[in-house]
Amino acid sequence: MREKYFRKQVRALRFSLLSPEKVKKLSAAKIVTPELYDIDGFPVDGGLMDLRLGAIDPGVSCRTCGKRVKECPGHPGCIDLARPVFHIKYIPLIELCLRTFCPSCGKLTLSEEKQKDHTPSERSKKARDAKRCPHCNEMIERVKLDKPSTFMIGKKRLNSIEVRQRLVLIKDEELKRIGINAKTCRPEWSVLSLLLVPSVTVRPSITLDSGERSEDDMTHKLSDITISCNHIF
Ligand SMILES: [Zn+2]
Ligand SMILES: [Zn+2]
Repeated sequence: MREKYFRKQVRALRFSLLSPEKVKKLSAAKIVTPELYDIDGFPVDGGLMDLRLGAIDPGVSCRTCGKRVKECPGHPGCIDLARPVFHIKYIPLIELCLRTFCPSCGKLTLSEEKQKDHTPSERSKKARDAKRCPHCNEMIERVKLDKPSTFMIGKKRLNSIEVRQRLVLIKDEELKRIGINAKTCRPEWSVLSLLLVPSVTVRPSITLDSGERSEDDMTHKLSDITISCNHIF
């Protein structure tokens, strides 16, 4: 039995962006409150230490898998973001899409003819910052990235909702022309609407010598995010 287990091999790994649907599917609970524990010290439902996200205390069992501490692997949750947020690591992808596709018809701003005999990366270079769309003939205003994460058209700032709308417009087959596989990487998935929250087993709380509970840094940060979201909603 054991030998068989060790003979298993990983042939390939594929990385992809998570769609909001996938985040929803992966998460065991929606986090809606920054409160962690009630007066009796029990994790609050819908809080960051919700028992559906895993068991980290002796004596409690996980409300998702029913197992106890050390046996429960932990389960992620999610936070509904009050406004879409750019994933900072994917700013280059967002910039590429804003500068190479038409904001009105969503097509690559390079005529079919000029696309012939070119590699996907050559096509994206040639399509970049076109002044007029060769497909729908619309004039295109140039998008500039004001680092780290502000997109401008002239003096006007494009907010995350507007950016997302532009990205949604781009069709799968148009993305393929510049080498983006829409199955694993729809550009609008890089503008987050649902934030995946790591399980409690990833960010366990510790008990200090004084008997006080102390939370992981990540829990504090996630708590700030829920507070901000509740202010905006
Ligand atoms: Zn569990
Ligand atoms: Zn167009």
